[in-house]
Amino acid sequence: MGKNSKDKRDMYYRKAKEQGFRARSAFKLLQLNDDFHFLDDPNLKRVVDLCAAPGSWSQVLSQKLFDGKTAEEIKDRKIVAVDLQPMSPINHVTTLQADITHPKTLKRILDLFGNEKADFVCSDGAPDVTGLHDLDEYVQQQLIMSALQLTACILKKGGIFVAKIFRGRDIDMLYSQLGYLFDKVVCAKPKSSRGTSLEAFIVCIGYNPPSDWVSTLDVNSSVEEFFSGCHMSKLSIHDKLPSWQEDERTIAKFMSCGNLESFDSDATYHLDDFKEDLNTSLDPVQSPTNPPYKKALELKRSGKLTRAV
Ligand code: SAM
Repeated sequence: MGKNSKDKRDMYYRKAKEQGFRARSAFKLLQLNDDFHFLDDPNLKRVVDLCAAPGSWSQVLSQKLFDGKTAEEIKDRKIVAVDLQPMSPINHVTTLQADITHPKTLKRILDLFGNEKADFVCSDGAPDVTGLHDLDEYVQQQLIMSALQLTACILKKGGIFVAKIFRGRDIDMLYSQLGYLFDKVVCAKPKSSRGTSLEAFIVCIGYNPPSDWVSTLDVNSSVEEFFSGCHMSKLSIHDKLPSWQEDERTIAKFMSCGNLESFDSDATYHLDDFKEDLNTSLDPVQSPTNPPYKKALELKRSGKLTRAV
């Protein structure tokens, strides 16, 4: 059971530990898959998990692609997980400690795939939060655009892209941009994602970029330059929108994912409702490999941590 009161009320936090997942986010991908079935496709071969640490999405990917499958079925299957943080090993997953915003990362993934393109890319990226809302929203948007740029270079035609978004003020812009690259774009909210949070996931099906557009990552070019040549750049944040009318907005279809029996992540459950022992505290499945607070803990344990006055 979680050690603080918010975690204690969260059934997904506990279920993740019980089922051996490194984070409760695993249920978000599982619930998205319940509705979209993108991981049940027998033809799924090359999969990329961007911003993957500590690795619960990669655990789900590994289970879905490899567990209980025959040698013939898993032939040519490969999962690559990328994160700035180091990750402990996961069966059938190749981990890369790398920055998704850097073009070299694309080359490293392509090398692992023997220069073949990916069938599925997912990104659960989140930058460190500063508490300054405008700045946090801006950095999150940049991370999504970086994930999208990398995806545009690595995803095969017809492939699927799933990414975490925050439904802020400019989200319609992102939906309309994605509409230029994919046949179908849906905004989905799994039940395990707290209703009180702006978090949601875009599920982009059928990668279908303009046939005359060549996507090339270059460390010196901006997002706008990257997408120039692709029709999406016609609509940029600097464009003066013509008289704004409701029916001109691109509003992605919204759906809630997870079946009716799924726990509500914002609800408080009565312990008596469960047969299991919910009062026992469960330890984390996997301790962080090299957390940013590691040095502070070492200093504290050796009595050397002093508070600056
Ligand atoms: N999906 C993961 C799971 O299920 O365990 C959780 C991902 S966590 C919410 C967000 C991750 O994004 C962090 O581990 C962070 O290091 C990573 N991240 C943020 N910016 C990144 C970047 N530029 N390149 C690679 N990873 C990044």
